[in-house]
Amino acid sequence: MTSDRLLPAQINWACGTCKNPILTGVVHLSFSEINQAVSAREEYERRSKEQQEHGFIKIGDLASLMSIPRTVRWAAVCDGCRRLEDHHCGDCYAIEVTQMRSVFSLFKWTRHLHKKSWFGVTDWIDFAADIADANGPAWESTGVR
Ligand SMILES: [Zn+2]
Ligand SMILES: [Zn+2]
Repeated sequence: MTSDRLLPAQINWACGTCKNPILTGVVHLSFSEINQAVSAREEYERRSKEQQEHGFIKIGDLASLMSIPRTVRWAAVCDGCRRLEDHHCGDCYAIEVTQMRSVFSLFKWTRHLHKKSWFGVTDWIDFAADIADANGPAWESTGVR
């Protein structure tokens, strides 16, 4: 086993926009999308509960019950692309990638984000698991599919 195998699994962030490696940039999502998703989720749950209580679905509610509210997707973006888009994350929850350089810090951020009321409307678990998959040690097999 070479010594670099013993180091924490570093994350090599790639920009979701230009696909280049990110040296400085953020992992972000927008609060307006979060708020929309939270209201949509509440509305969905209210209708589901109503339907369970009444035992029938009102015609107009069928479509909304068929479509589970979508989740808000996290994205990694480099500072170069943010500059081009004149995007300053004013309306974002943003984490600097320099604060998330290893799979271990990813786990710490998961603990922090999990406490947010809006955690469940985002795709963080899948996002983080994909990052861990892509950056985890090659010798490790968890058996998880
Ligand atoms: Zn970029
Ligand atoms: Zn942003």
